[in-house]
Amino acid sequence: MNQSESTALSVEELSELEQLIRQRIQELEEQLPYLNEETQAVSPSCSLGRLTRMEALNDKGVNEHILGETKRNLERLRNALSRMDGGTYGNCIRCGKPMPIGRLRLVPQALICVPCSEKPGRR
Ligand SMILES: [Zn+2]
Repeated sequence: MNQSESTALSVEELSELEQLIRQRIQELEEQLPYLNEETQAVSPSCSLGRLTRMEALNDKGVNEHILGETKRNLERLRNALSRMDGGTYGNCIRCGKPMPIGRLRLVPQALICVPCSEKPGRR
């Protein structure tokens, strides 16, 4: 496969994005232990008052959501790195077209381009 045809990104852009991805992975990995702890903080025998208990449960729900998102993002970011190794990074997995660097800077783990992600249908 011709490498220069598989991606619209230059070597400089790729290394910039790789750094960005590694940085994000590191940030997310640092958050994980904290989030894990937060989602286990509320036990049924917890002696908080009713209201604060409700709030704590709410927080727990929010944190569980964040934890799930964080894990998914980590997975996507690691996936992006392996796609970089494979030379397919930056190409939309639906239409196969290279994504603009602007999108990748914002969402370096993006797998599909904006037009495709706005199309309804299969996930
Ligand atoms: Zn696309």
